[in-house]
Amino acid sequence: MKPIEVTRVDTKEVSCDGGSGASGHPRIFLNMGDNTEIECPYCGRQFKLLIGATPVGG
Ligand SMILES: [Zn+2]
Repeated sequence: MKPIEVTRVDTKEVSCDGGSGASGHPRIFLNMGDNTEIECPYCGRQFKLLIGATPVGG
């Protein structure tokens, strides 16, 4: 069972092409709308919106 890949993003509009290799797929654009996360229907990758993220370091 593969671990679910979670990508943290700072915008509600993301694009996903599954990366290279077997899980690749045509590039699509996903919009979270009222949600703060979305899952790619092709490869299952999850995108989570960063909320109130505090910049680390300088
Ligand atoms: Zn995908």
